[in-house]
Amino acid sequence: MKITVTAIKADIGSIGGHTRPSEEVLRAVEGFVRKGMKAAGIIDLFVGYTGDDIHLLMSHKNGVGSSKVHKLAWDAFKEGAEVAKGQGLYGAGQDLLKDSFSGNVKGMGPGVAEMEFEERKNEAFVLFTMDKTEPGAFNYPMYRLFCEPSANTGLIVNPKLSSGVRMTIMDVMENKKAEMEIPSDNFLIAGLLMYPGRYVIDSVRNADEPIMAATTDRLHNVAGTYVGKDDPAAIMRLQKDFPATEEACSVFKVTHYVAGDTRGSHHMPLMPVKARSAASSNFCIPIVSALLFSMHNGVFTAHIDAFDTVDWDFYRNRAVKKAEFMREQGFVHPATLIPEELEYSNGYKAMMSEARKRFK
Ligand SMILES: [Mg+2]
Repeated sequence: MKITVTAIKADIGSIGGHTRPSEEVLRAVEGFVRKGMKAAGIIDLFVGYTGDDIHLLMSHKNGVGSSKVHKLAWDAFKEGAEVAKGQGLYGAGQDLLKDSFSGNVKGMGPGVAEMEFEERKNEAFVLFTMDKTEPGAFNYPMYRLFCEPSANTGLIVNPKLSSGVRMTIMDVMENKKAEMEIPSDNFLIAGLLMYPGRYVIDSVRNADEPIMAATTDRLHNVAGTYVGKDDPAAIMRLQKDFPATEEACSVFKVTHYVAGDTRGSHHMPLMPVKARSAASSNFCIPIVSALLFSMHNGVFTAHIDAFDTVDWDFYRNRAVKKAEFMREQGFVHPATLIPEELEYSNGYKAMMSEARKRFK
C-alpha cells in the first residue's frame, strides 16, 4: 500500500518570547485538523512542537503536494494564529505570510517535508524537528550519516546504504536543485555542504525508494525580505535498507555549530533535546528533537522520544559547554554571523552607515 507521510511546520506564536506555543494554540490546531482530516483523506495525525514551532505529521494516500492536506494544515495554522493573537502571544501568526491559500503551502511560510512510498510490513521512521536554526543545520549530521563510514559503520556493512544512494542538494539562493551520487560524488557533496547558509540537503533516496526528506524553504526567499530563520524538520525512514535508528540519531551527538539562536544572528551548537521542549532561554541554544514512529496501514503506533534517555544528558551538557566557549567570543565573528546572514541586517546596516561617515 502506497502511503504518503507529510510533515508541515510553522511558528504561529509563543509565550513570553520565542519559546513554545500555548496549550490552547496546540489544541486549536489539532482540533481543526481532526475535524477535517477524514474529508481530506488523512489516515492519522500527530501534533508536536519543538521550541516555538508546531509540527503536524500526517499520513494519507493523496501523494506529495496534496492540496487537500496542505490546505487543511494551512487553515489549522490560521485558526491557531487567531487563538495566539487572542492570547497576546509573541509573533502570533508570524510564519503565515500570505492571505489566501493557493494550491500548496510551499512558499507561503510553513515548511513541508513529505515522501510517498510503499509501506513496509514494519515501517519505521523518525521525525527530526529543530528550532532556532536553519535548514543547513542538517548538512553535517546527514553527511556523516550517508557519506562518512567513520561515523556510520552501516555504510560498510550494508551495501544498500553505500550504492545507488543519491542526495539532492538545494541552492537556496538560486532556488535550484542538484542530484549527487554517494559515494562517487562525496567530495562534491562535502564542498557544497561546507556552506550551510546556501546549500542544504533537500532529500536522500536510493534507486527505488525515498529515504529522507527535509524542509528546505527559506523565509527570506519566500517573503522577499528576511523575516526569520526557517527552522527545519525532516522525515527519515529507518532500518533494513535505510539507516538504523541508532545510526540516524547518533550523528546528533556531535552538537556541531549552526547558525541561528538569539536574534537569528549567531553561531551556537545544536543541542539534542527531549520532545516538547521550550526553546532555551540561555541565548536560545539551537535545539533538535527526534521522535521515532512505527506505522502500519498508515496508522502511527505509539512514538518514542529518541533523545529522552539518560545518555543524551551527557551530550546536552557537552552542547552547553560548547555554547559557553562560543559566547566567550562575545560579538566577534564567528560568534556572530556574516552581515548578509544576520536576521537583523537592517539594524546592522544602519549602525554601519553611521560608522562609515567617520571614515575620511
Ligand atoms: Mg522557531
